Amino acid sequence: MAAKAMRPPAGSDKAIASKAGPGAADEAGRSGLQRGMTGEQLQELAEQAKENASTRRDTVPALEDILYEPIPVLDRGFVRVIDYMGSDGAIVQAARVSYGKGTRKVSEDRGLIHYLMRHRHSTPFEMCEIKFHVKLPIFVARQWIRHRTANVNEYSARYSIMDREFYLPAPEHLAAQSSANRQGRGDVLEGDEANEVMRLLERDAMRAYDNYEQMLNEREDGSTIDPERTGLARELTRMNLTLNYYTQWYWKIDLHNLMHFLSLRADPHAQYEIRAYADAMIDVVKRWVPLTHEAFEQHRLHAVTLSANALAVVKRLIAGEPVSETDSGLGKREWRELMATLGRED
Ligand SMILES: Cc1cc2nc3c(=O)[nH]c(=O)nc-3n(C[C@H](O)[C@H](O)[C@H](O)COP(=O)(O)OP(=O)(O)OC[C@H]3O[C@@H](n4cnc5c(N)ncnc54)[C@H](O)[C@@H]3O)c2cc1C
Repeated sequence: MAAKAMRPPAGSDKAIASKAGPGAADEAGRSGLQRGMTGEQLQELAEQAKENASTRRDTVPALEDILYEPIPVLDRGFVRVIDYMGSDGAIVQAARVSYGKGTRKVSEDRGLIHYLMRHRHSTPFEMCEIKFHVKLPIFVARQWIRHRTANVNEYSARYSIMDREFYLPAPEHLAAQSSANRQGRGDVLEGDEANEVMRLLERDAMRAYDNYEQMLNEREDGSTIDPERTGLARELTRMNLTLNYYTQWYWKIDLHNLMHFLSLRADPHAQYEIRAYADAMIDVVKRWVPLTHEAFEQHRLHAVTLSANALAVVKRLIAGEPVSETDSGLGKREWRELMATLGRED
């Protein structure tokens, strides 16, 4: 096997060269604080920034640059990359079942990756893995956890006290129920109604947490409220919290299944709050495996699938034939979607 160039591993001095030097950990700490990290996590981040190790494994400098760094999402959430395995090269290598990078040009690797993506030859993408630490509201976690192909380890509210941290939508995301789509949003709320909704969301979350502390007989900082009382178990008390409270988990997944997750959750039909996380993770994929990211955008994210009838409509349109909804063989909704895709909504 050909020797690989020694590259700085996760958290090595070289990998953090851009932020190294006295105060680098403090700097990481300050930015982390603004991103909703706890004191313990800031400490961990500072320790990770000091780590030094070497590896003969292939690493990706652009991803090393942001390793461990929280990427802010929503008002208090974040995603950060904890670890990863593989690169575009690993995908190509697996696809060719070869024993080295060989002398292929980048353009050939790009062609192969596009081919694999286009033809759903998916196992080479499973050779890459990534582990994220995610801080997200519970109602987003409920949607996220439906994706069964990841490995998850969540913060235990049986074991630890939850933080007084809850999500409040930014004004531009405080929208009314959509009239066209039962699972979507319509116009943004404004004026008194918007103010009242924000007041209720905040008040209910705060009150739920006040009662959470009372029932626990313990404050957020761990101090006891009333030494005469025992307090309710954490595993029971947590049921009083509202769904906008933040939870955290480590989430590990291979690249093939990550792209499946992203194609569903970065889609405009997905709820904005989970989409915000998916968008942040797509940027991570772009740093990690740029050729795969390009192919993913091309063949999955911005691609459409046509049914046999829809393809027949397209062929008739290209031939200059008039086609109407009634003679298209499509249902009303599929016809509307096809016309929107083709930019013929008039
Ligand atoms: C816009 C949107 C709206 C949604 N609305 C609803 C809703 O109203 N109600 C609701 O309940 N859910 C809803 N969902 C969730 C959705 O139905 C899926 O459960 C979720 O997106 C996970 O998809 P998945 O199963 O493909 O993903 P994963 O669990 O990541 O699985 C990936 C793939 O692996 C295979 N797989 C994994 N596990 C199994 C298994 N046990 N058996 C067979 N095949 C398996 C499947 O091929 C699957 O596609 C919605 C999702 C989206 C994106």
